Amino acid sequence: MTEEREEFPLDVLFVGGGPANLAGAIRLKKLADEKGLELEVGLIEKGDAIGNHSLSGAILDPIALKELMPDYAEKGCPIEETRLHDRFYYLTQHRKFDVPFTPKFMHNEGCCIISLSRFTRWLGEIAEGMGINIFPGFAGTRVLFGEDGRSVTGVGTGDKGIDKNGKKKATYEPGVDLTARVTIFGEGPRGSLIRQVDEKLEIFSKTMPQVFETAVKEVIELPEDNPFLKGQDTVIHTFGYPLGLDTKGGGFLYRMKDNRISLGLVVGLDYEDPLLEPYQMFLRYKRHPLIAGIIQGGKVLQQGAKTLSIGGYYTMPVLSVNGALFVGDSAAMLNAQRLKGIHTAMKSGMLAAETVISAFEKDDFSLDTLRAYDQKVADSWLNAERYEARNFTQALARKGVVKFMHIGAQYFTKGRGLKDPLSLVEDCATLKKLPKDWKAPEEDSEKPEYDGTLYLDKLTGVYLSGTQHVEDQPCHLIVHNTDICETLCYEEYRNPCTRFCPAQVYEMVEETPGERRLVLNPSNCLHCKTCEIKDPYKNITWTCPEGGGGPKYSIV
Ligand code: SF4
Repeated sequence: MTEEREEFPLDVLFVGGGPANLAGAIRLKKLADEKGLELEVGLIEKGDAIGNHSLSGAILDPIALKELMPDYAEKGCPIEETRLHDRFYYLTQHRKFDVPFTPKFMHNEGCCIISLSRFTRWLGEIAEGMGINIFPGFAGTRVLFGEDGRSVTGVGTGDKGIDKNGKKKATYEPGVDLTARVTIFGEGPRGSLIRQVDEKLEIFSKTMPQVFETAVKEVIELPEDNPFLKGQDTVIHTFGYPLGLDTKGGGFLYRMKDNRISLGLVVGLDYEDPLLEPYQMFLRYKRHPLIAGIIQGGKVLQQGAKTLSIGGYYTMPVLSVNGALFVGDSAAMLNAQRLKGIHTAMKSGMLAAETVISAFEKDDFSLDTLRAYDQKVADSWLNAERYEARNFTQALARKGVVKFMHIGAQYFTKGRGLKDPLSLVEDCATLKKLPKDWKAPEEDSEKPEYDGTLYLDKLTGVYLSGTQHVEDQPCHLIVHNTDICETLCYEEYRNPCTRFCPAQVYEMVEETPGERRLVLNPSNCLHCKTCEIKDPYKNITWTCPEGGGGPKYSIV
């Protein structure tokens, strides 16, 4: 197949259609126009359209947007709500406690509520209007390296029209090799291409382990007369129930336009209980009296799930190599303390664009020139706010009173706290084994009830995410050794993949007693990457399915 691959040369290639790369592409084009540089710029996105794979809370701090496009409001930026009035609650199973003191980093003055899928779609239209070549439905599957093996020269896209046995179908279309002077990777959390770069160039070798949270989120339409739509509060954050205080994470509820709200729960993937199921935690959260009272009578319009890279400052990789830069969540730019990453992602893309312009002016795309990006990041507000949060995720990973001692000390010492740096443990290493004689309870007292409207099972959620894949294609989820799943993992953890996957992709079937078999439903996959991150044996590798597959988010 390789002999049929065409080469498509570009000056700059952006890989991924999220806010980091779109802001970067817009900034690049503006600067190039100002300097009279004629650059051929391309952006590939694995989703069927820009915005289809974008999901977030999302409260936007518009600081980077204002720098990028001061007239963003006139340009029709899709904003859901600008009047942000926060409430912060600690929840027990049946009660809520108003936290009278909202930490300074959680203040949202000047921010706005958006739908990330709408927002990125809007950025994509602007970028396209400026002459950037946007290629949706193109999944990058292979990083191209130069002859020296140390420089990135572009990305190869996946072939289309290959059947599940690896044979060409009538619809076969070979992928293309998109070569570029500079490639900017903004694939989002746990990118599969950045992993290939790391395998070759060890960009993560000196950082702390990457750590993540999984968010399950819905957009719910409420009846017009719902009091929450008329009230003063527009933003609710919670901690405590259903996760407790020893598991990272919490809930959020934001008011949107058109009688809608955005509701979600994030779960730190360093949780220890192999029986924990983030999706069921989300349903429990919805049944808490505070949340159930607000969403009563509502209807879920869309559901989705995604991981967030929350490690922050000390988990940031090397940001530049010969011929490539790394931006956004791919490079751990999110500020977990502020529960925000869109503004930091955008800023990183914009700083990358400025670096690329200097590289074209010097006609030098080696690390000597591109490493200026690392310095630009270090000198910007982006780093200042992340530096103050440098030990925050680590503190949240601690248990009991120690957690609060660390958080308190960090609060008053601009992030230094009791120990700097505080260590982190990889998410795949935190599950505790079940006792050898463990038996599933006969009756689960908290057995979920679904109504198909407001409380959905996983498969209805997948349906409402719009997820579709070509069925007859090679499985994009590589389970390296299914013997481990059927024996060791079953005995030690009872196959946590069947619980942590929010889309019911993994099922362990036992047709005859003691004869277990792992069955995969890859066409349900929401591309959240939780399985690759949390599997305790590192037995799963997520690869990119045929371009154009996956969710079709439009309002989350
Ligand atoms: Fe997420 Fe993996 Fe499940 Fe896909 S298979 S939805 S990436 S956990």
